Amino acid sequence: MKTYNVKSYRTPLYRDAGFLLKDIPTAQKAFSDEQSLPITPELYIYSRYRNPTVVAAEEYLASIEGSQWSLLCQSGMAAIDIALSVFQRANHKCKWAFFTEIYGGTNSYIDSILVSRRGVDAVRFSPSGEAYSNVEFDSFMTTHKPDVVFFEVISNPMLIVADAVEIIRIAKKYGAAVVVDNTFATPYLFKPLDFGADLVIHSATKYLSGHGNLSAGVVSGNSPELARSAIEYRKLVGHMLSPDDAYRLHDMLKTFNLRINRHFENAATVAKFLSASSKVEKVIFPGMDYHPSHEVASKLFEGRGFGGIVTFDLKGASFEDKQKKCNEFINAVSDSIPLIPTLGDADTILMPVEPVWGDKYPFPGMIRLSLGIENGQEITRVISQGLDAVGS
Ligand code: PLP
Repeated sequence: MKTYNVKSYRTPLYRDAGFLLKDIPTAQKAFSDEQSLPITPELYIYSRYRNPTVVAAEEYLASIEGSQWSLLCQSGMAAIDIALSVFQRANHKCKWAFFTEIYGGTNSYIDSILVSRRGVDAVRFSPSGEAYSNVEFDSFMTTHKPDVVFFEVISNPMLIVADAVEIIRIAKKYGAAVVVDNTFATPYLFKPLDFGADLVIHSATKYLSGHGNLSAGVVSGNSPELARSAIEYRKLVGHMLSPDDAYRLHDMLKTFNLRINRHFENAATVAKFLSASSKVEKVIFPGMDYHPSHEVASKLFEGRGFGGIVTFDLKGASFEDKQKKCNEFINAVSDSIPLIPTLGDADTILMPVEPVWGDKYPFPGMIRLSLGIENGQEITRVISQGLDAVGS
């Protein structure tokens, strides 16, 4: 087979399932160094283990996260599975703590996989009212003494911001490992590893890829032992991201800083605009000074923004009236702001809260907006038309 020694500035898209190993000593070294970092070019073995195109995107991600290493996988859920599974041991009753305000899919994974199939003892920490209390978290840790603590920095759809620096400090005081899902805040707003978290995960399907057309997840950390364990787990359960998706993600990451700034600016503009409308009952956005997490968010994010999501509640005389108004708004904006169940897309999209979250948030007039990177004035123009279409 002819090989072409063409120089490319980019890491090429290597679709090979297995890689050419020069001779037996190289093969032996490759297999013995399979889980170590950094990887050198002659040591690639098999794409499910590691792939150069995936590694190039991982190195770029590690520079964004400020981490020693980052590992890509096929989805945010795969990242959560890797990040938690590395702490699981046979003959050891794992007691793991999860904050209640986390992604619904993660809550289902905890119940259906961790608890029901793997016998993990999951304990839950809830906010008191509309915010987490550090004092209550400290006494929760005294009572339960979990081995692992898992939380999200910005919750969804109520946008509760966890006092992450303090939560990590308290968890560490009790000897727990800390895993943070930082999908909503992104490394732009906050980097949990800088404050002692063991692992941080993202659904890269959201802001990191940022175009609503790629599924991926990433786990990052600083510990070499956790890296080895995560590389082994990813390899054996087959959670590896495809080289094609890694190649696309790598390009998308180059505009991450530009895009994220625009998402956050648009969210702040829209939150302000909505709060001036007589048709809106309440705007939920950590940038508003009345939001229960405003103080924590200001301290944690240091002026870089408050996230790209704005949740708002339409006024209405009754449950049914609010439901009707929610429908009217969604229908009126649907050509420009479609109902799509994801977030962090370059286009502004929305989700009604009550039909998706049901009893957990029984607010029929509530809508979650994921602000895109369009012109902010154009988004407010469409939202204004939507509000005009809502009967008074
Ligand atoms: N974590 C958070 C906070 C999410 O919102 C999601 C999905 O919406 C996930 C994890 C799972 O990500 P994925 O859909 O990429 O598996």
